[in-house]
Amino acid sequence: MNEKVTKIAKRVLNSEDIDRSRIEHLFSLGDEDFEDLLYWANKIRQKFFGNKIKVCSIVPGRLGGCSQDCKFCAQSARYETSFKETKILTDAQILDAAREAKQKGVPNFGIVYSGRSVTEKELQRLEKLIGEMKDTIGIGVCASLGIIDFDQAERLAKAGLARYNHNLETSRNNFKNIVTTHEYDKRVETIKAAKKAGLGICAGGIFGIGETDADRIDLAIELCQLDVDMVPMNFLHPIAGTPLADFPTMQPREILRLIALYRFILPKVDIKVAGGRVLNLRDMQSWMFRAGATAILSGNYLTTAGRAVEEDLQMLEDLGFEANLICG
Ligand code: SF4
Repeated sequence: MNEKVTKIAKRVLNSEDIDRSRIEHLFSLGDEDFEDLLYWANKIRQKFFGNKIKVCSIVPGRLGGCSQDCKFCAQSARYETSFKETKILTDAQILDAAREAKQKGVPNFGIVYSGRSVTEKELQRLEKLIGEMKDTIGIGVCASLGIIDFDQAERLAKAGLARYNHNLETSRNNFKNIVTTHEYDKRVETIKAAKKAGLGICAGGIFGIGETDADRIDLAIELCQLDVDMVPMNFLHPIAGTPLADFPTMQPREILRLIALYRFILPKVDIKVAGGRVLNLRDMQSWMFRAGATAILSGNYLTTAGRAVEEDLQMLEDLGFEANLICG
């Protein structure tokens, strides 16, 4: 067993901070230390999360037609993809999906809107829908609506919203290579506003978009400082028509290594393996929990097909985990 990794892992297990030089050491480990890294990441997961794995799924309230230019995203209207045009679900479709989730026994319903932000009219519609889902259907609501300010976050919280998703996507340094239509600070400010309004925070990023290990460390540290509750980790699923269409997919062991490293840096924060999981991890999907993941995004992703929730629940049962459906 690598002694230095053991020492760092013991610090994490004792709830002591690990500084950047220790984090950099973990990132510098070679393939020969892969098993040690996973062993300790799993120990850290067990200590802080026990046997429970959270399962989320999402419904696209507004899909495609986005004015922004995130290079990995099929929903940008700037790229030739099948999501160039906007599709919006009706109130009835959203409420039916929430009712269906409630019937399945799922405590929260996740709704995602494409686009930079929502208009006043859309916000009013969402306030009404959130209230109806919470009070009439009796289901908690999570939402991802782009950039919001404190007033908007407060209105959403008052309407009954429980948690806000807004990913940083990548490090501050790499962001300009991926998005040019809005600033990194807008994303940071949105997370701070949602947090100040009392909303739970789900914020993470996407990997395999040309970032370096230094970018991955910067992103993890930034998320740590923002004190988020859940970190979704997405792995590029290259989409034809987008600028990253020809990027190679990440290797399963590289993804597992990254999940394990994030578990060391964010020991008490839920790590959710989200988009790109099926394509990139292939037969190694069940390994993600041994690497430290505590949550998964199940069902279809926004623009790519995922796995049926039932299939994921079976995987968790086979692995001896207790599935905790938190969002559907
Ligand atoms: S990631 Fe969000 S903001 Fe960026 S292009 Fe896609 S939908 Fe628009």
